[in-house]
Amino acid sequence: MSSDKLNIRISSSRELSDEQKAKLESMLGEKLIRCRQETDPDSIGGMRMKVGDTVYDLTIRHFIDRFASKEKNRTDVDAALSVTEDIKKNIQSIDTDIDVYEIGHVVSVGDGICKVAGLADVMAGEMLEFEGNLRGMVMDLGEEVGVILLGDYHKLQEGDVARRTREIMSVPVGDALIGRVVDALGRPIDGKGPIHTTETRAIESPAPSVLHRKGVSVPLQTGIKAIDALVPIGRGQRELIIGDRQTGKTAIALDAIINQKGQNCICIYVAIGQKESTVVDVLDKLKEHGAMDYTIVVSAAAADPAPMLYIAPYSGVSMAEYFMYKGKDVLIVYDDLSKQAVTYREISLLLQRPPGREAYPGDIFYLHSRLLERAARLSDDMGGGSITALPIIETQAGDISAYIPTNVISITDGQIFLESDLFHAGTRPAINVGLSVSRVGGDAQMGAMKQVAGLLRMNLAQYRELAAFSQFGSDLDKATLATLNRGRHMSEVIKQGQFEPVSVPDQVVQIVAASEGFTDDVPIEKMQDFESRVVDYVKMNFPEYEAEVMTGKKLSKESMEKLRSLIKEFRDSYDA
Ligand code: ATP
Ligand code: MG
Repeated sequence: MSSDKLNIRISSSRELSDEQKAKLESMLGEKLIRCRQETDPDSIGGMRMKVGDTVYDLTIRHFIDRFASKEKNRTDVDAALSVTEDIKKNIQSIDTDIDVYEIGHVVSVGDGICKVAGLADVMAGEMLEFEGNLRGMVMDLGEEVGVILLGDYHKLQEGDVARRTREIMSVPVGDALIGRVVDALGRPIDGKGPIHTTETRAIESPAPSVLHRKGVSVPLQTGIKAIDALVPIGRGQRELIIGDRQTGKTAIALDAIINQKGQNCICIYVAIGQKESTVVDVLDKLKEHGAMDYTIVVSAAAADPAPMLYIAPYSGVSMAEYFMYKGKDVLIVYDDLSKQAVTYREISLLLQRPPGREAYPGDIFYLHSRLLERAARLSDDMGGGSITALPIIETQAGDISAYIPTNVISITDGQIFLESDLFHAGTRPAINVGLSVSRVGGDAQMGAMKQVAGLLRMNLAQYRELAAFSQFGSDLDKATLATLNRGRHMSEVIKQGQFEPVSVPDQVVQIVAASEGFTDDVPIEKMQDFESRVVDYVKMNFPEYEAEVMTGKKLSKESMEKLRSLIKEFRDSYDA
């Protein structure tokens, strides 16, 4: 190929006449070009011209293909019955201008990735189309473009055509997604038919800037006592849920979602690399508790191609952003990001990026930081919406100082640390109160809760210290025994079953009862019963109490006294 001549390939269904050829050549300026003409009976009629990577397509075959792809989207039965009408309409709606697009060719295919040559102007993050409705996303630029394949890539072969779309990878967003289960590309997988969204959003969008944010000040109640009291979460916060396998991580996230019922908060649950059966369980639980009315489930299961697992969290947060920028509050759960990191490592190694610590690529921190930075509380000028993120990380043998856990801990505003030992000892949720923190949620905590949570935290800390050391001592003095007894009762208060959310006013009653010693004489095994009955007693005899707590202000001195005397009254009448 001579370098100063442009290669042009023209194909037509029938051989061009000499006259037509001469006309074409003079039109294109024969000095600069090297023109090759060929016949392609497959094109049926019309003509196609390829200049470099760009194709100018005016063949009948292409017209039919475009028409066919439109027809494929037709799913509802009624429309199928009036086929001819529909076909007429669709034919009219296809524009008959020359279709100009750029193509490249697949050079090599690997597990979920491929390399494409010849896409000189392609953008990073651009969506590519392959045969058979397969889509890909450009990850690496260069002479050969590295592409991740989002779908079944087993039929893809060397030499296949990759077509540019000129669109950055995006997903459908909008209200129509609520109540649905979608894959990482936003396509429905719940068998409930198409989702009629009108907007799309790029999966990689910049996080809101500092100027567009404001502080966290509105609480997001999880209904879990240990969290709402000790590691409170505010709307717009990022709180990590971290722990070993089977320690109740998903359970906490689900409880938090279920507790958003009627709280004006849209929830998105992103399942990454989980077994399909686990996702089905989650879905059943959400449905059972009426949470699907305000929840979207994005699922990239373990069996999906690795790239789907990689993009699923970004797809989820893009759907969340749509609501946030409309001034709404959103809670998003990423279950879990360790699996996303592992998937990303796999993709990166396949794309031949240099491995770093634990074989993760150099930009593994950025993988999670750019995702979690998109959670925010927007300023009033921006509508005041928020995205609260609950990322989940799985640890190995409780090691929170491993690479990925430390990364994510440093990006989030606190963590809820779950421990296997506690879980197996029956302390559920298995939250290690000492290692769990919430760095910003305190500002969002309700006044009444703030009033009583301090004592709970202190007593629990004292108890744990003593309990550890009193294992060795035999005769303990009275004061130590009393502290241990108090602590045991308080630990009992923060135990809570799954799907049993407790409202803030009720939490306050139970915490006051235990931490101020009203329950010291109640047998441990009776604590659950006592707790549930004391809240009813307070409700009955102090009807204004609930409203006062819900104002978010501290309880007045009188109310606090009244609460204490009611708890005492109940305690005295309680027949243990
Ligand atoms: P994995 O690592 O497999 O994702 P996980 O950490 O997400 O596990 P879960 O699936 O949430 O853990 O919980 C493990 C089991 O413990 C489940 O059967 C769940 O029902 C149970 N469980 C979780 N929390 C509680 C609780 N507070 N009370 C009783 N059972 C619970
Ligand atoms: Mg789980």
